[in-house]
Amino acid sequence: MFARHFRHWPNRLPKSLVVPDTGLYHNLEVSAFRYPEKTAMYYYGSDIRYREFLEAVDHLAGFMQHERGVTAGDRVLLFMQNSPQFMIAYYAIIRVNAVVVPINPMLVTDELGFYIDDSEPKLAIVGQELYDRIAPFNRKTSLEHVLVAAYADYTDRQTDLELPDSVKENPKTLADPHVTRWREALALNLPPDPVSFDPDAPVVLPYTSGTTGRPKGCIHTSKTVQANTVGGAAWGNMTASGVNLTTLPLFHVTGMVHGMHIPIFSGSTMVVMTRWKREVAAQLIERCQCTHWTNISTMLVDFLAMPDVTKYDLSSLTYVGGGGAPVPRAIGEKLIERTGVRYVEGYGLSETMAQTHFNPPDSPKLQCLGIPSFGVDARIVDLETLEERGAGEEGEIVVHGPQVFKGYWNRREETEQAFITLEGKLFLRTGDIGRYDEDGYFFIVDRAKRMINASGYKVWPTEVESILYQHPKVQSACVVGAPDPRRGETVKAYVVLHEKDRGHVSEEEIMEWSKGRMAAYKHPRRVEFVDRLPMTATGKVLWRQLQEKEWEGAKQR
Ligand code: AMP
Repeated sequence: MFARHFRHWPNRLPKSLVVPDTGLYHNLEVSAFRYPEKTAMYYYGSDIRYREFLEAVDHLAGFMQHERGVTAGDRVLLFMQNSPQFMIAYYAIIRVNAVVVPINPMLVTDELGFYIDDSEPKLAIVGQELYDRIAPFNRKTSLEHVLVAAYADYTDRQTDLELPDSVKENPKTLADPHVTRWREALALNLPPDPVSFDPDAPVVLPYTSGTTGRPKGCIHTSKTVQANTVGGAAWGNMTASGVNLTTLPLFHVTGMVHGMHIPIFSGSTMVVMTRWKREVAAQLIERCQCTHWTNISTMLVDFLAMPDVTKYDLSSLTYVGGGGAPVPRAIGEKLIERTGVRYVEGYGLSETMAQTHFNPPDSPKLQCLGIPSFGVDARIVDLETLEERGAGEEGEIVVHGPQVFKGYWNRREETEQAFITLEGKLFLRTGDIGRYDEDGYFFIVDRAKRMINASGYKVWPTEVESILYQHPKVQSACVVGAPDPRRGETVKAYVVLHEKDRGHVSEEEIMEWSKGRMAAYKHPRRVEFVDRLPMTATGKVLWRQLQEKEWEGAKQR
């Protein structure tokens, strides 16, 4: 047996991979040429082969070009749950050199307006169950047309697996002349015109609030996405014989790269789930012999807590990994016990198209972000002075690498603030506080940015607060993350009521009111009334004080 004794830091950082100067559409084309008859997607009892996948992409691209006039640089909103249509639409948008704007399907109408105003899409491609939410914007904003898709079109309706939504036609879509149904668009069989390829042109704008303020679109190009696609495939050893269980939401960077781009690049099979359900996931792993599964901590916790998890044959799994939120040590240990597989935790942000750090699969550390991935230079800097810190010292994690985005869409000032220069290179400020150990493994210890990580869904307190302020009885509010055994963190609102309303409003009333006004993962799950919020002399709310109170409270419980 060979053993490997190495220290990653500082001289053994994985060097850059050579990333091909081709785009994502090319990845699909190559896989479709190599494996035309192979299952690209398995979706609730149905197989979609690589040949069919590419054909559907081309026909949708032809429809967009010839029927809807979509051209290079146009934005196309993608508002859908995980489905074959999500992937087909994503690659078709790229095929015509337009820009994908993937939006969380949990967003409600009140929230969508912001994304539409900000990205000014020409066309929206939506799941038909979500059509009602987007309809108020059609023809009243930049949106000229909506294409609706029924996921069930791509399922085997006889399957014993639980079918996703939207089996029935949404009657409202039939009445709207500015709506086309997916089936009709593809039936036109329009071949797309050739387009030129620029590896530095924007291809996708995942939204995040970054370290500050309102959501912003991160400009990613073919180059930044390919860096993590090729790097991720190499790191996780994803090859054409791989079978990937795709459970993370595809609108988010981790799902996008690990659930879609990497398997397509590798020519492997994707087993796609529209909605998370642990029993279905276990059945699929067994039935499809899944080898790879990228998830988020809460999913894995839920999966391993399944009472009869041992009843399923999970022996095909060779790679289970994820990121986006801390993975409790006990969960990593439980995974090894149940499957013999070690959890490969990673770390990254929307700004870095998922991973900048990965644990080495053969020597992972638990509750650890891993070592910098291919071509990534990661440092720790002092929060105030921005001076570099050494091993074991805490500070902000800053990263430089081929996957780092080009800036925020139409936000020059925020883009400038997002970077610092060290030794002549631009480093992205992550807003995460961490350290690295003597082996060069990074750990996260705190967050400098105001963000709540609820089951991996990122909640920006200021956004929730601005909605709470619309409640007629709320005088002021401060939203923090409360430790939660299931979601990691959950949303808690400290609320000051107007004096006349005190004692006449219940916590439940505030929580109930929040529903429908924001996506479900953002609702405050806990409300505490207080007479005043802690403030600085200049009237700034000392949110950190309330945040720390929550952490302290959890430690004592
Ligand atoms: P997003 O832009 O939604 O991908 O969120 C990025 C943020 O998720 C990071 O800045 C971290 O705060 C958090 N995050 C990502 N990976 C991890 C991880 N492995 N452990 C803890 N937090 C993480």
